[in-house]
Amino acid sequence: MPYPVAHVLFFLFCVGAVAIYALAGPFFRRELSFKDARKLLLLVFVGSLSTLLPDIMAVYNIFVNGNLDHCSIGSIMTHSLLFGFSAVLFGTFAGYAAYRESSKAASMAIFAGSAFLTHLLLDDIAEGGCAYLYPLYNGRISLFSIMDTGFAEAGGLLNYLAVSIVSVFCVFIVIMMALFALNKFGFEFGYGAEK
Ligand SMILES: [Zn+2]
Repeated sequence: MPYPVAHVLFFLFCVGAVAIYALAGPFFRRELSFKDARKLLLLVFVGSLSTLLPDIMAVYNIFVNGNLDHCSIGSIMTHSLLFGFSAVLFGTFAGYAAYRESSKAASMAIFAGSAFLTHLLLDDIAEGGCAYLYPLYNGRISLFSIMDTGFAEAGGLLNYLAVSIVSVFCVFIVIMMALFALNKFGFEFGYGAEK
C-alpha cells in the first residue's frame, strides 16, 4: 500500500499536472482572487479525500485493531469500481453544497471519481492488481500485467494490440475524467493556432 501522501501527490501532480501548469501563470502574476483560492482548495480537498477513500479502513483498524488492514469494510472490498460510488456520492454532495447547481455537482462527482480511480491504478502498479470487478469477480486484476503480455500469450498480434490499447485507455480515461471536470471549474484547455 503506497502511503496516503503518495496517493494525494500522485493525483494532484501527475493526473493534475496540466492544471498545475495552467495555474502557474496566474499564480505568479498574482491574478488569483480569494474566490479562486477557495474554489481551488475545494478541488484539492475533494480530490485528496476521494483518492484516499479506498484505504479508509486503515484509519479505523490502526486505532481499533492495531493493524493496517484496509481493503474491505466487512465483506465490501474498497479497492473496487463498486466502492468508487462512495467517491462519486461524496463529490456530488460537496459540489452541490458549494455551488447549489446540479451541473457543478455532476462535474465534482466526475472529479472525485477520477481521484478515486487513480488510487486503484497506483495500488495496481505497487501491488500487482486490485479487485476492480468486485462483486462480479473477487480476484485481483492488474491492468499493467495485461500491458506486459507478449505476442504468444495474447494469441497473436491483433489480440496483443487490443490488450495494450485497453490498458492504456483505462489510464487515459481516468486522466480525461479529471480534465473534463476541471474544464467546468475555470480551467480552459484549448488548442489555438500558432502565431
Ligand atoms: Zn489502497
